[in-house]
Amino acid sequence: MTTYVDVGIQRIQAHLARSRHLWGRRGASEEVVRLTMSPAAAKEKGIEAPPMAEVLALSGIEANDEAIDIDGVLSFKGRSEDDARDAGLLLARRLRTRLPGLTVQVSWITADVQPETGIEERYIDLLDPAQSRRWEKVTFRPAPYEFPLVRLCDECKVDPASHQAGKRFPDDPGVAPRLCADCFRRREHAERRRRTVVSIGPKHPNKFCVEWWLLSEINQARGGEELKGVDDLGKLGEMIRPDAAGHVRTHRDNHTALVFADGNGLGGLFEAAHRAAVEAGSTLEMQALSKGIGEALIVALKAATEKIILPGDDRLPVVPHVMGGDDLLVSLPAERCWEFLVEFLTRFQDAAEGLGVGDRRVSMSAGMVISKAELPLANQVEIAEQLLKRAKRGVDGQGWSFTWLDVTQDGPGGEHEVWTLEGLKDREPALGYLGEMSANSVQSIGGTLTSRDLGVMAQKLEYLAKRVDEVKCLLDKAGIKPSDRFDDSDARALKDLLSINRWWR
Ligand SMILES: [Zn+2]
Repeated sequence: MTTYVDVGIQRIQAHLARSRHLWGRRGASEEVVRLTMSPAAAKEKGIEAPPMAEVLALSGIEANDEAIDIDGVLSFKGRSEDDARDAGLLLARRLRTRLPGLTVQVSWITADVQPETGIEERYIDLLDPAQSRRWEKVTFRPAPYEFPLVRLCDECKVDPASHQAGKRFPDDPGVAPRLCADCFRRREHAERRRRTVVSIGPKHPNKFCVEWWLLSEINQARGGEELKGVDDLGKLGEMIRPDAAGHVRTHRDNHTALVFADGNGLGGLFEAAHRAAVEAGSTLEMQALSKGIGEALIVALKAATEKIILPGDDRLPVVPHVMGGDDLLVSLPAERCWEFLVEFLTRFQDAAEGLGVGDRRVSMSAGMVISKAELPLANQVEIAEQLLKRAKRGVDGQGWSFTWLDVTQDGPGGEHEVWTLEGLKDREPALGYLGEMSANSVQSIGGTLTSRDLGVMAQKLEYLAKRVDEVKCLLDKAGIKPSDRFDDSDARALKDLLSINRWWR
């Protein structure tokens, strides 16, 4: 009997974002790629053998060539259930020795043998969602921190500090920090500026090292003037538009946006694809679906990145943290965030057209948090995760939707409506007009919206529109009529328009 084992890294966004600084995220990406690389690939690149090499050297354990290739999931099989499971647990421990903050899940299943025929269940049958309860699972989570007397790591403030870091980085506060084991490992890579893995194949980035892959793709397409990566998120926030001078904005300093985008209902889609695969006796359609989504993501990320590169740029204005399967986590200058988001969703929509199973179609939602660059990445990711969930709920997990939070303006508890991509495009004329209006008029509109009473709000707005032509014109373009009927949704739409306008291109 064969036992199949998967060892997978989970909650990677949260782990990568444990660092407050970009060097920490980059170091973790590098380490995760090295840890999950195949022994053959590591040998080819001349780097230290990954923990998987130790597992495959155990007797009775071999690679599972049928496994679907997913970045961050290591698959193998064994002839004895005990040995295979123990090998999985060993692998999880090895991964977590190197990065103690990782969440790692070990899952295994043993194929049954039909007594009459002596034929063993196939691997594809075991992947059937109907069999999911037969998979046994053990999840290793980061240990909760229990000794408050110990000094905490300067970088993540999650685990006790156990190492003294070496040379200072531009974004270190004052002195070189004292770090926990997880952050210290990140720092090692960052200090050596390692970029071992840019891509797996010529066209496909590794899920955890998208940044250097994207940089190389963009530079190849540019031919000549090469862009570099930014040093830290603060520098990313400083990449403002030269043409923004004289615009109504007065808050251009040092803001970044973090976009978390994720496909909708992909779980159900893949279940449907799997059922079709079992019926057809072939995984071709399933592979095509997964490949199609991955390629659409690549097309959309490259197009959206190119869209926001400005003539004077010498750095890449986009820092993708993770991109894999159907999700993307990316930082960029706040001033370019809307242009990026619209282009990304639009291009993904085009590229993913026709992808699906039966009448289920691929769609995508996004959460975007705009904040000062110094807000720790961990907090940004946490907020973006919540926004993404709301964006998905807002369209019942089927559609092209997004929502956002402008932390500086809205405060951490603020909230905006869930918008659809289509809805935003409908409002583009109003947004374009709003961007050209005088700061005074924009402020006056904001002033009317602070009233608690809708009737009072409508009256003030109507009065303002009578006095100021451009306010009237804006309301016309936005389809809002304070003199006619003005309800709660109009008020919220207007508030949202003002919020979007803060960083609209
Ligand atoms: Zn730490």
